[in-house]
Amino acid sequence: MGGTPESTKLPPGMVMGPDGKPCKACSSGAAFRTWGKTALAGATAVTKKSQQCPPDKDQLGRATWTFLHTAAAYYPAQPTPAQRSHMLALIHALPALYPCNHCAEDFGESVAQHPPDVSGRAGLSRWFCERHNEVNEKLGKAPFDCAKTDERWKDGPQD
Ligand code: FAD
Repeated sequence: MGGTPESTKLPPGMVMGPDGKPCKACSSGAAFRTWGKTALAGATAVTKKSQQCPPDKDQLGRATWTFLHTAAAYYPAQPTPAQRSHMLALIHALPALYPCNHCAEDFGESVAQHPPDVSGRAGLSRWFCERHNEVNEKLGKAPFDCAKTDERWKDGPQD
């Protein structure tokens, strides 16, 4: 008999981290809340609404894309060798350090297939837009128009 293995009880969208513990940064907020109610009812790990909560996968994603697209929007048109090198280091660090491990793994594969264009602002903005669109597609979302990255991340809408 032995009962149902713990992993089969996880709600859809709930992900355990490589350390075998619940990974909030890898899980959808709804799945984490559902899991928390059943698995941690009454435990201190259930965070009260009034407290500032650690980010779930989507909050982390929005914040990270905001940083990456904005960094690209303000990247020089003609970067120095040092600026190119720093940008490459930032991009290549993400697959190793991004806290959502399954997101990081897929992003690493995408970077390997599509070498980053750090030649200048326009190419880098497009490169990030295309990588983000791959995630959008994977999640069933509409693609973003990459001609509009400046409007979205630097200039704002025209009046
Ligand atoms: P987001 O997709 O976060 O977008 C934020 C804003 O960016 C949008 O409102 C829009 O104005 C703008 N935008 C959208 N698309 C583009 C684009 N192509 N170019 C420029 N601007 C754009 N989640 C998963 O569930 N699975 C994954 O494998 C996964 N991988 C990720 C990998 C990385 C590197 C990152 C940073 C995030 C990943 N995420 C993943 C999170 C996911 O991409 C979203 O951030 C999350 O689903 C929240 O989506 P959202 O609809 O609120 O807006």
